[in-house]
Amino acid sequence: MNTLVKNPDRKDICATCGTRYASPKTTADGCPVCLDDRQYTGDNGQVWQSYNELAKNRSIRFTQLQTNLYALQVVPNFAIGQQAFLVLLAGGNVLWDCIPFLDAPTVAFIRSLGGLRAIAISHPHYYSLMVEWAEAFGCPVYVHAQDRQWVMHSSPQLQYWEGESKTLWDGMQLIHTGGHFPGSAVLHLPYHGNKGSLLTGDTIYVARDRKHVSFMYSYPNLIPLPKDAIEQIFEQVKDLAYETIYGAFEGQVIATDAQKAVKKSVCRYLSVLKA
Ligand SMILES: [Zn+2]
Ligand SMILES: [Zn+2]
Repeated sequence: MNTLVKNPDRKDICATCGTRYASPKTTADGCPVCLDDRQYTGDNGQVWQSYNELAKNRSIRFTQLQTNLYALQVVPNFAIGQQAFLVLLAGGNVLWDCIPFLDAPTVAFIRSLGGLRAIAISHPHYYSLMVEWAEAFGCPVYVHAQDRQWVMHSSPQLQYWEGESKTLWDGMQLIHTGGHFPGSAVLHLPYHGNKGSLLTGDTIYVARDRKHVSFMYSYPNLIPLPKDAIEQIFEQVKDLAYETIYGAFEGQVIATDAQKAVKKSVCRYLSVLKA
């Protein structure tokens, strides 16, 4: 019996965005996350899958990026295809963002590294199976209160935070930036590596050249953000000290001078955008 995930045969996971819902769905049911103009419905229309359908050929790949940082990805790829990050810290481990799958080997591996003290999420596209992860590890999930309407599966594990930042432990901070979503956030690790890291989801999106970043309302539909939203994001991160940015997708790393890359990218935007 699968004790990790309740109702594993219920079709309640959207195949396009990976969000798990609290009730079973039929093809007549749309996914509000995908119907929103930041997302899209897949080429085959709305498809719902059960956890057990997913589990047939899926696993979770761990890639160690630094001694205390792992990227986690569902393989073969499913839905949006984002990574989550496991950060190992003296005060307890944190999972940044989430992925739409969880299995027993993953739980065992993370437990062998000390388990999870908390999960923190950048924005609703990565809510995925956050409730199942939180229940498996008995930890809270920090979600910004301004995105509460996008939570499709409520749980006592969810903790809504408000305001501009939330201090966690070991100097770690969640920073509210808004932009892509009203509650979009990034995670600052001040003592990570030599000079700190910023984990940005797609709030601050690492460009293909890995020398710049972008800020969009919708990435798949190419809808830009207005000037004031970009200025607000920059205002929130400009005084943070960090060397490296890790974005949501594989290979999205600005390894050095990431702070300068953000500043340069903001200047490039603002030079061409009108208010
Ligand atoms: Zn969806
Ligand atoms: Zn997104």
